[in-house]
Amino acid sequence: MVEVNVWCQNRNMSSLVEDIVLWFTKTHNIKDIGVSVFLKDRYKDIDCWGLCGKTSNTNYHISVCTDQSLRDFVATLMHELVHVQQWVNEDWTGTGEREAQSKQYLLADKFWKSKKRDL
Ligand SMILES: [Zn+2]
Repeated sequence: MVEVNVWCQNRNMSSLVEDIVLWFTKTHNIKDIGVSVFLKDRYKDIDCWGLCGKTSNTNYHISVCTDQSLRDFVATLMHELVHVQQWVNEDWTGTGEREAQSKQYLLADKFWKSKKRDL
């Protein structure tokens, strides 16, 4: 099971974030982890669009800024989830940045397409 906790003021945002994390972990066959996502209102709160960290063998923290376009926001969250996947599989090249950057918008668009199918 994947447990998702979202920390933010906005309820609509938290269900979207939960959807994305569960979609990502399901499509990448990631199981038995906990993901806490912290939504930040302003870029200057963390001085970057997104951050992630590993807090234990099975727990991960992600921070994402909400003051960007929805597509960029979703792509940033995907970017951080690629890092989570790298940790889970203990598999990355260099800093892992190149893989995360090359996949973030593809994943964001794939997620929206899967949502459209559900409607
Ligand atoms: Zn990164």
